[in-house]
Amino acid sequence: VIEIGQPEHSVVTTCAYCGVGCAFKAEMRGEEVVRMVPYKDGKANRGHSCVKGRFAWGYTNHKERILKPMIRERIEDPWKEVSWDEAFSFAAARMRGIQKKYGRDAIGGITSSRCTNEETYLVQKLIRGGFGNNNVDTCARVCHSPTGYGLSQTFGTSAGTQDFDSVEETDVAVIIGANPASAHPVFASRLKKRLRQGAKLIVIDPRRTEMVESPHVKALHLPLMPGTNVAVVTALAHVIVTEGLVNEAFVRERCDWAEFEEWAAFVAQPKHSPESTAILTGVDPKVLREAARVYATGGNGAIYYGLGVTEHSQGSTTVIAIANLAMATGNIGRPGVGVNPLRGQNNVQGSCDMGSFPHELPGYRHISGDAVRDQFEALWNVKLNPEPGLRIPNMFDAAIEGTFMGIYVQGEDILQSDPNTSHVVAALSAMECVIVHDLFLNETANYAHVFLPGSSFLEKDGTFTNAERRIQRVRKVMTPKNGMADWEVTIALAKAMGFEMNYSHPSEIMDEIAALTPTFTGVSYAKLDELGSVQWPCNEKAPEGTPVMHIGGFVRGKGKFIVTEYVATDERTGPRFPLLLTTGRILSQYNVGAQTRRTENVVWHAEDRLEIHPHDAEQRGVRDGDWVRLTSRAGETTLRAEITDRVSPGVVYTTFHHPDTQANVITTDYSDWATNCPEYKVTAVQISPSNGP
Ligand code: SF4
Repeated sequence: VIEIGQPEHSVVTTCAYCGVGCAFKAEMRGEEVVRMVPYKDGKANRGHSCVKGRFAWGYTNHKERILKPMIRERIEDPWKEVSWDEAFSFAAARMRGIQKKYGRDAIGGITSSRCTNEETYLVQKLIRGGFGNNNVDTCARVCHSPTGYGLSQTFGTSAGTQDFDSVEETDVAVIIGANPASAHPVFASRLKKRLRQGAKLIVIDPRRTEMVESPHVKALHLPLMPGTNVAVVTALAHVIVTEGLVNEAFVRERCDWAEFEEWAAFVAQPKHSPESTAILTGVDPKVLREAARVYATGGNGAIYYGLGVTEHSQGSTTVIAIANLAMATGNIGRPGVGVNPLRGQNNVQGSCDMGSFPHELPGYRHISGDAVRDQFEALWNVKLNPEPGLRIPNMFDAAIEGTFMGIYVQGEDILQSDPNTSHVVAALSAMECVIVHDLFLNETANYAHVFLPGSSFLEKDGTFTNAERRIQRVRKVMTPKNGMADWEVTIALAKAMGFEMNYSHPSEIMDEIAALTPTFTGVSYAKLDELGSVQWPCNEKAPEGTPVMHIGGFVRGKGKFIVTEYVATDERTGPRFPLLLTTGRILSQYNVGAQTRRTENVVWHAEDRLEIHPHDAEQRGVRDGDWVRLTSRAGETTLRAEITDRVSPGVVYTTFHHPDTQANVITTDYSDWATNCPEYKVTAVQISPSNGP
């Protein structure tokens, strides 16, 4: 660790990595961070942190950081450094030129779950108000969009039900498609503490994760085949219904009984039993039956899930199936229970809340609603388009068709993080104006015409909303190294395009959000400074926020049971591609590694590896540490092999942190039927020995 002397002052802010949202004291010497100290009064982390957050400032000083705006006529040309004004004029002229030539709807933008609520709000406001269309989407599209859909359908709100404190009252924790020990370490520590006190653990995951191997508890592990979540959760429901474990009093009081009866009759069919589905899912029926009994009868049961649930062609169906399970057992609406999506990025919840989807204004209100549009039109002084805009994959398709030609991408490397890289390359190459607003020249910037330097979380004021709906302050501890915070950049770009947005501080943006969003009417910077944080809904009914939702009644009224039929993904194994690839994260890297790979004050994991079961490795003559070629219908890449029985025969696993590996060269275009969230977690592949990249 490099330390530069004793701190002179400290500022409380919020980690900009994962959705736990740990609060830190940034201890400063002048404009330099001396160290980041986990804040003991932080309500999400209670004084704890993981290695990523603890060293989360190294990348801000990295030599590859771009601090000057750059433009170029064509992507083949070298970049030219220009003034901010010249960059904004160039970008605005190009975007307006595209609209003149191809029509109003030929441009759009992508907001970032890494940026603040206020910045995200401004980008969607620019697109809806300044571009005149609803072609705005968020990188949450590719992670938790099925959560928004599934939980709003069943419970009436697009968010997790509990606070993290709730885990202290949990008796049975069910983790589905998540590995919090790597991806949400501070939450994992709180869960492990509860497990040491006697709580039970059920893990539904193709891989024997660190949580399964936890020495504190003997977990029930259901190592399902990738892509069979719906079948497994329905089999759990089958046991609960057919063995008389339903909490009938809860269901009669809180849910629509007729819908429950239809659902119960569906799951009770013999074809949904653990025994009937065992060959499909690969899960031992005895273990599955035991898991269902433990969850239904073991006291407070809480479900935590991650991208292993959502990033499937049936991602939304699985979220609904999980919600059904919680309602059937009465595990909703009090501390210790609930349905809790573990958000990957720091502000996934916030970017969704702020109206980043093409069909929804802030607060999840559909753009077609006349009364809602009237409210925004009056305050923004614009006429809004009532038609939903394009989702990210539709933007790519439209670019290839020649009807979507300009994009503003804030804080996301879509080339590295979206599926089927060659398709994304084709889309970006077809566009006439790609504006990348980021800290580094990322992979997407290779296809950009304008590069607007971004600011780190240490260089701006704002708020993030974590996985438990907790809104927390991000506080500026240093002057933006590029001269402009991200919210100021968006305002200046809007102005160059002829759309005025006037704010002198992000607190004014939050005031506007509060004025327009019923779940935020009680939120202000003054209140956040006073209370430390609040969890939405924070309004007249709940002035200090809402830690646990759906107490006494669901937001939608009666809880809605929905029948969830398992449908196999179109991504099938066969003689050419006999194995299934699934993906995940490691503790020491964050997403595509743009920041963690450039944080030099600690030693980071150096490469992505491919986990292969010994049986599959032996069949192919692959030894531990060998290079292997990984091939799918979409493309191929090369990685080193790690031979391990953490994965089952027929399943391989890798992480996606390094641009050299480009795991998304392999992933396909299949996506969730309801939200188009890509099916990252199931790809049919083959492996063969290789001499290296
Ligand atoms: Fe940051 Fe998440 Fe680690 Fe907390 S657990 S320090 S929020 S990366």
